[in-house]
Amino acid sequence: MQKRIEVLDKGFVELEDVFGGDGIAIKTARISYMSRSDPEGDKKLVKTLMMNGHESPFEHIVFTFYVKAPIFVARQWFRHRIGSFSERSGRFTEFEEEFYVPDKTRAGEKVESMRTAMHNAFETYKSLLKSGIKREVARMVLPMSLYTQWYWTVNARSLMNFLNLRTDKHAQYEIREYAMAIAKFFSESCPLTYDAFVRYAYKGNVLEV
Ligand SMILES: Cc1cc2nc3c(=O)[nH]c(=O)nc-3n(C[C@H](O)[C@H](O)[C@H](O)COP(=O)(O)OP(=O)(O)OC[C@H]3O[C@@H](n4cnc5c(N)ncnc54)[C@H](O)[C@@H]3O)c2cc1C
Repeated sequence: MQKRIEVLDKGFVELEDVFGGDGIAIKTARISYMSRSDPEGDKKLVKTLMMNGHESPFEHIVFTFYVKAPIFVARQWFRHRIGSFSERSGRFTEFEEEFYVPDKTRAGEKVESMRTAMHNAFETYKSLLKSGIKREVARMVLPMSLYTQWYWTVNARSLMNFLNLRTDKHAQYEIREYAMAIAKFFSESCPLTYDAFVRYAYKGNVLEV
């Protein structure tokens, strides 16, 4: 399985770890009947769970992702409360000049003026640091397009909610690109769960089996 998927101009999603996969959801669901696993039955079981909204067994599958994305994407992502985040600190580290610059399809002729504005903001940040201003204060001049990084630990049920909302044409293009990378890791790690999700429980309008 691919470990890193590049996203936007400088970002990425890495699958750091996954616990359980399809097997743990099947095992935990089977306790209801104290029944045993078998390949055909397992597929049916996952389908039934998904169709009936009996989603708690999927909470036993847990992913940790390492993500690099612009701050405005992080703001949208962090609204998903069911999950854990640990983010790089702008107080304890000095930022690099790494901004997301949308391409012409997004920003038209304004691409270059956006790039210049970001660069100028970064020059001000550097000069503030040089004059002795603390990192936690100097960062206040930096725009939302600055790249940040974080770990996201999330169970598959919450991840499916994330995909419902963020792999949808109503979601902003940039976070949708990240959500597509998350969907790819999900499909490769949990093929049965992913397939049943997209067929029977998916509410977005982008993913296909
Ligand atoms: C296209 C789009 C546009 C958006 N626009 C805006 C906007 O303009 N302004 C804005 O503020 N937000 C906006 N949001 C964010 C949105 O309102 C949600 O906060 C975000 O998508 C997280 O979804 P969630 O609450 O389902 O996820 P999570 O926070 O991960 O929650 C998962 C589920 O747990 C349950 N849950 C979690 N917390 C509670 C709680 N406190 N009480 C009851 N049930 C709970 C709910 O069933 C919820 O669906 C937008 C989202 C999208 C996708």
